[in-house]
Amino acid sequence: MLNKYSILSMFGFVAIMLSSCGPNPEITKEELHDHIDYLSSDSLKGRFPGTPEMELAADYIRNTYTEAGLKLLAEQGLQEFEVTTDISRGENNNLKVGDTIYSAGKDFVPYSFTANKELNAEIVFAGYGFNFNKKGVKWNDFEGIDVKGKWVLMLTGDPEIDSASSIYAAYSGDREKTLTATDAGALGVLLVSGPVMDRRDKLISLHFDKTQGNSGVPVLNIKRKVANEILKNSGFTVADLEEKLNTSRQANSFVIEAQVNGSAEVNQVKVNTHNVLGLIEGTDPVLKDEIIVIGAHYDHLGFGGPESGSRMPDTIAIHNGADDNASGVAAIIEIAEKLAQQDNKRSLLVIAFSAEEMGLLGSKYFVNHPEFDVKQFKAMINLDMVGRMKEDNGILLAGVGTSIEGEAMLKELESVDTSLHFGYSPDGYGPSDHAAFYSEGVPVFFLSTGAHDEYHTPFDDIEKINIEGEKKLSDYSFALTDKLLNMEKSLTYQENDMTDQRKRGRRGFSVTFGIMPDYAGAENSGLRIDGVRNGGPADKAGMKKGDIITAIDGKEIKNIYDYMHRLNTLEKGKTASVDIIRNKEKQILLVQL
Ligand SMILES: [Zn+2]
Repeated sequence: MLNKYSILSMFGFVAIMLSSCGPNPEITKEELHDHIDYLSSDSLKGRFPGTPEMELAADYIRNTYTEAGLKLLAEQGLQEFEVTTDISRGENNNLKVGDTIYSAGKDFVPYSFTANKELNAEIVFAGYGFNFNKKGVKWNDFEGIDVKGKWVLMLTGDPEIDSASSIYAAYSGDREKTLTATDAGALGVLLVSGPVMDRRDKLISLHFDKTQGNSGVPVLNIKRKVANEILKNSGFTVADLEEKLNTSRQANSFVIEAQVNGSAEVNQVKVNTHNVLGLIEGTDPVLKDEIIVIGAHYDHLGFGGPESGSRMPDTIAIHNGADDNASGVAAIIEIAEKLAQQDNKRSLLVIAFSAEEMGLLGSKYFVNHPEFDVKQFKAMINLDMVGRMKEDNGILLAGVGTSIEGEAMLKELESVDTSLHFGYSPDGYGPSDHAAFYSEGVPVFFLSTGAHDEYHTPFDDIEKINIEGEKKLSDYSFALTDKLLNMEKSLTYQENDMTDQRKRGRRGFSVTFGIMPDYAGAENSGLRIDGVRNGGPADKAGMKKGDIITAIDGKEIKNIYDYMHRLNTLEKGKTASVDIIRNKEKQILLVQL
């Protein structure tokens, strides 16, 4: 597509020549390049939801729809929804020990996963906050000590902080420790770093971790100076206790003679963002009510940073996202442009999704507010990271097993370009926007040229894009979309028969149960299941989409973090009892792991 934005690009001269007569309806390398060039330019600052630059991107995409003759849906093409992008420290952060009042920001800070609550209670020192028994190592900091209704003071880290393979590593996270403490009945948590763990004694900084789920209790990170004051009557300092635990490798918990009055508050920063929707109406009087969806997400990681999804979280720099996913957006624009030139039996809905990187939020919002009846969607094609085709001309194509006819149809389409090689996967779930459609019973096709060294780094730039490959993939995707729009009978949805193949999701969440969790869930009273993998352990146990997991082996699950931590502690071959809520009623299912 050529418009005012591309004038400065390397094809600027041609752009000026052509801009008076609209876009070239063919899929051209120049136009693919121009779209990627603009969307991944530094001027858009990494396309982070809620920023003005993200709105420029939305506007650009909408203009290409209009110029191609698409009908804009929702509000002038923009479907608005709200996402939480950050958290900030609230007003109500207080800490008083005895008569001493400490200062928020200087002496202590709240954790991102704190509950907004207050507690005035006694306090117990509980070591590293461990409670595990694994590979012959047993350590329980809560044995023989009553923490019910009290504050718990714990050290951050573990006795082997420099060892990645340490047995303690799975239990050393602040969030895990808090969960272990609340399991034991604690109603408030203070965490402090010993000098071995952090010589400089830096307070944590607030980072939004993409879930709204909190720990249910106030959780504060405090300075050593404050902890030493709290410990005053015990005769120990934080440094003493850290050394003792590291040397003895066993619990050393005790009641501290001190009264702690503290409260914590964090607030969510919410912004509006948009899916961009355009429609090409079908020309068949009957089949035009059937809709084929083609989509690609247009958001990326902004400037990166901790918890952003960046693989270089310590580097604050524009993450341009040329491949992820300006490439996909460029392709759907070009494909739609070409399809708009011909008569199609079915209708084509073109969607650029926002907030994919934050947990598929845009596609999820869309399937819950679809503008149409979801039953009208006969297939969904998702393009995510399609600009880095390798020398073997490979395309990863997932969703092959989500319709009865899919595999045979794709075999036939291989003749479109015999230089391409396909890596087929039957799976309909996966770490991108098609998953939301598959979970609604829509056959899906997910196309990608795969991950690479620059994936989720500031170096995913246009210079690395294989525009020849992008063109090949776009031509093929055009043929696929054309086929789906104009075939006589639409595809028949089926659940694919994958057993619990362990998928390495981009966000690394475990799927040992074979479920797709709603990891952005707002409830904080359980983990909702967005999908169940056919033939997986959860499926066999009778778990269903929409169920809310509230406990595993009797231990409470409030959110995705609790779930992941509990999964970590389960062993293969055993059976776990899982409490779920279905239709407001509690049930217990047995999952064979
Ligand atoms: Zn990504």
